[in-house]
Amino acid sequence: MAQVQRMSRLMVKTLRDDPADAETLSHKLLVRAGYVRRTAAGIWSWLPLGKKVLDNISQIVREEMDAIGAQEVLLPALLPREPYEASGRWEEYGDLLFRLKDRKGADYLLGPTHEEIFTQVVKDQCTSYKDLPVMLYQVQTKYRDEARPRSGVLRGREFVMKDSYSFDTTEEGLAESYALHREAYRKIFARLGLDYRIVSAVSGAMGGSASEEFLAPAAAGEDTFADCPNCGFAANTEAVTFKGAEVDGSAHGPVEELDTPDTPTIESLAEHLGVPASATLKNLLVKVDGEIVAVGVPGDREVDLGKLGEHLAPAVVDLVTAEDFEANPELVRGYVGPQGLKIRYIADPRVAPGTAWVTGANKPDTHARNVVAGRDFEVDDYLDVVVVEEGDPCPNCGQGLHLDRAIEIGHIFQLGRKYADTFQLDVLGQNGKPVRVTMGSYGIGVSRAVAALAEQTADDKGLCWPAEVSPADVHVVAAGKVLQTELALEIADKLAAAGARVLVDDRAGVSPGVKFTDAELIGVPKTVIAGRRSAEGIVELKDRRTGEREELSVEEAVARLT
Ligand code: ATP
Ligand code: MG
Ligand code: MG
Ligand code: MG
Repeated sequence: MAQVQRMSRLMVKTLRDDPADAETLSHKLLVRAGYVRRTAAGIWSWLPLGKKVLDNISQIVREEMDAIGAQEVLLPALLPREPYEASGRWEEYGDLLFRLKDRKGADYLLGPTHEEIFTQVVKDQCTSYKDLPVMLYQVQTKYRDEARPRSGVLRGREFVMKDSYSFDTTEEGLAESYALHREAYRKIFARLGLDYRIVSAVSGAMGGSASEEFLAPAAAGEDTFADCPNCGFAANTEAVTFKGAEVDGSAHGPVEELDTPDTPTIESLAEHLGVPASATLKNLLVKVDGEIVAVGVPGDREVDLGKLGEHLAPAVVDLVTAEDFEANPELVRGYVGPQGLKIRYIADPRVAPGTAWVTGANKPDTHARNVVAGRDFEVDDYLDVVVVEEGDPCPNCGQGLHLDRAIEIGHIFQLGRKYADTFQLDVLGQNGKPVRVTMGSYGIGVSRAVAALAEQTADDKGLCWPAEVSPADVHVVAAGKVLQTELALEIADKLAAAGARVLVDDRAGVSPGVKFTDAELIGVPKTVIAGRRSAEGIVELKDRRTGEREELSVEEAVARLT
C-alpha cells in the first residue's frame, strides 16, 4: 500500500508571486510551488515536495548505477588539504573551493568533487589485478563557491551530485567502464523524462582525454552547444574551439608548424605563467619571449583565473584586437595539448576582419588591453565566452553549425592515469609486476536535474512532472464540502491500496478554485476531482499536461490510474 499524503497536513505554502530575485522559470516555480526555500545565496533547503522529487531522481540514478555493477559508498564531504595539495587542485580551484581550518589550525576543504579521495580509498582496498575492475559511486553533497549562483538549484554553492569513479588496469577496461556509464546515463535520463543530447566536451580541470557531456536543451542553460544538422557532430562550444585548434588545415585554411629553436614545453610555459604544470588555461593571450602567443587551451571554470591574472599581469599588458589581428596576419595561435605546447599558424575563417576570432574579455568582439582577469573584469564574464558562432563551419564536415543553449546535467571523463600517478595507485599484475591503474570519473547533477526537468516540462500554469519523478502519481482534489472530502479520501485510499502515490487536497476552508490552481502549480501528472457529481459517485479525471477531462465512476477512475 502506497502512501496517502493529505494536503491539510503537508507543510507547503504556495505563493502567487514570483520571488523578486528569481531569473529562471525553474527558480520561480520551485519556490512558488513550495518545493525549495532559499537559505543563502546558492544554498537551498528542500521542503517536503522538493525532497520527494530529489529522492525519486536519486533512486533512479542508484538503480541504474547498481545495474552496471557500480557499488555505492559514502565518502566525507569535509576533506583534508593534503590529497588536494598533492594533485595540485588545492591551488588550481582558486576561489571555487571552500577552504576552512579546524581548531588546531589545520587546513580542510569541502569537497567539490572526489577524484583524490576515491583514488586513496582504492589504493588502500585494492592490491591485485584480481580486485579490478571496480566502479564506485556516491550520492552526496558537493560544495563549490560559484561566482554567481543565480538560477536557484540549477547552480548551487551546495548541491547534490552523483559521482562515480572507475578503476581498470587496461585501456580497454577503461573504455568498457566508460561505455557502461554512458549507457547507464542514457537510461537514467530517459527514465527521468529529460530531453538531452550527448556532446563532446573539454576535459577541463580534470585533465585527461575522452569526455562527453549530457546536455538538456533549455533557455536557462549556461552552456552553449554546437550542432551540425549535416553530419550529426555535436559539441560544447568550448570543445569546438579546442577542436578548431587541433584540426588540420583543410577545415581552417593553411596550417604550418612554427619553427622555433626552442619550442616551449608545458613545464616552461607553466613556469613562465607561475602556475602548476597541471593547470588548464583557456583562451589566454600571452607573450612568451616577446612573441604574442594565443594559447587556446581546454579550460574549465574551476581554473583560478583571478590568480592566473595576477601571475600574468606582466604578460597580459597588450592583448590583441580584431584590427591588430588584421594588421598582423602572422600572429600565432597555439594550444597546449597532451604532448606539450604546439604552436601553429592558423588561417582561421573566424579571424576574418570584423568578426571576433575569440569573443569575450570585457567587451564583445575585442580583446582587452592592459587588463587583468579578476581585477578588471569578472572572471565569470570572461569564462562565459562563446567562441563559436551560429553558422561557423563544422570541424567535421565544414557545413554551418547551429547553436543552442543547454543545461549540463551529466559529464563523463576518461581521466587516464593523472590521479593514479599522483597517488601511485598500482596493483600487482598477472606477472607479479605492479600495474598503474587507469581511471574514469562520471558525474550527474542530481539537484540540478530537478531544476532542469522543471525548465523543460513546466508550462504557464506551473510545474508539470514526468511520472517517475513526480512527488505523487495522483492529486485528488476535494472540490466541495463534507461529501466531496469524504469521497476524495475514499478514492485516495483505493488508489493507494492499488499502489499509487497520492496527494489529496482535503483542506477545509480553501476554495475549489485555489485548490485547482495549486494542483496545477504543484504539477502532479494526474488529477482526480471530487466535485459536483460526488453524490452519484462520479469524479472527474484530468490530465495535467493536456488539460483533458473525463467523467468516470470511482471504480473506473481507480482502474485507469493504477
Ligand atoms: P558547470 O559547467 O555547470 O559549472 P561543471 O562542468 O563544473 O558544471 P562537473 O565538475 O562536470 O560540473 O560536475 C558534474 C555535474 O555536477 C555537472 O554535470 C552538473 O550536472 C553538476 N553540477 C556542477 N556544478 C553544479 C552546481 N554549482 N550546482 C548544481 N549542479 C552542479
Ligand atoms: Mg563548474
Ligand atoms: Mg561544465
Ligand atoms: Mg562538467
